[in-house]
Amino acid sequence: MLYYCIFARMNLADAAQLKELLLQSRDIVIVPHKNPDGDAIGASLGLQHFLSTLGKNAMIIVPNEFPKFLKWMPGSDAILNFEKKNGVALELLEKADLIFTLDFNELSRTGRMEPFLTKATAKFVMIDHHQQPDTYADITYSDVSMSSTCEMIYNTIEAFGAADVMTKEIATCLYTGIMTDTGSFKFSATTSRTHRVVAHLIDKGAENMRIHQQVFDSNSPARLRLLGVALNNLVILEEFRTAYITLRQEELDQHNYSKGDTEGFVNYGLTLEGIVFAAIFIENKEEGIIKISFRSAGDFSVNHFARSHFEGGGHTNAAGGRSTISMEETTGKFIALLPQYKQQLFQ
Ligand code: 5GP
Ligand code: MN
Repeated sequence: MLYYCIFARMNLADAAQLKELLLQSRDIVIVPHKNPDGDAIGASLGLQHFLSTLGKNAMIIVPNEFPKFLKWMPGSDAILNFEKKNGVALELLEKADLIFTLDFNELSRTGRMEPFLTKATAKFVMIDHHQQPDTYADITYSDVSMSSTCEMIYNTIEAFGAADVMTKEIATCLYTGIMTDTGSFKFSATTSRTHRVVAHLIDKGAENMRIHQQVFDSNSPARLRLLGVALNNLVILEEFRTAYITLRQEELDQHNYSKGDTEGFVNYGLTLEGIVFAAIFIENKEEGIIKISFRSAGDFSVNHFARSHFEGGGHTNAAGGRSTISMEETTGKFIALLPQYKQQLFQ
């Protein structure tokens, strides 16, 4: 049977294809991107809970550790970490007959899992809202206008005719992902439809206040002090409407850094009046890289910038990338690139 279809809107016919694929599948795996965020984890858990209401068990395998501030989510205990449980994970990937890849557009976004996903014999379903989706999947549900992959999981559930019987667990997971990926409902991809979806999730049991507290009001003192260091390191380049932050390995080590501690730091640059381009450069000595996050306000495409210069990508206003040269060389390269974008930055 041939699927190979790409659709930007999940409708009843698409859902029928997905149902057929599910009927034929026994061993299902769900994989989000490396360094999974609230949307990646929320979509994975939301889908896992939904599949279980259809009588299908699925295992979630994350490429690497995910942030502490997401570890309260229903089902998060059972998530397998590819780096820590490599043997079990490899066995599951090999045995799988269906693999959902969520919240990423190309298999390289799974880091060390990529070769194993490439050689897996399972059918693939991609659900994602990033630009330039790759074509590895048998069913591709890709829509770059979506606020989040969680909103797309909601659409999938709705196309299955199950939105009204959604459980509290599903609603909680999807709410979390929409909330984190929209910067608490403020980024441009947040539509009136997003708000309607979120309203329905609250009706179905998502406790909005509790979720906000668990994600945003669970700082450790060390994390808050690390934010202080980051803000102190902020460099403002008014002539390019740009601001960037650096964090070195020693600074992370001095503040008991753990995964997710720097989440959201990059956004502070954009809170400065007149600044439309923000970046954060975070040293990772273990991987020998500088991990970079880019954010923009308005039309300046950080997806294009990250793809062109820092082996990355993402969305128009939020993207990431990496560099394998030193921190000084990386920020030097970044600053040297700005003059050629001056016009775009002042549009
Ligand atoms: P963040 O800066 O929060 O890590 O990521 C922002 C957005 O860019 C997310 O949608 C994320 O999936 C994407 N992104 C982050 N790093 C990379 C990367 O190295 N490559 C690509 N293609 N996308 C990335
Ligand atoms: Mn996302």
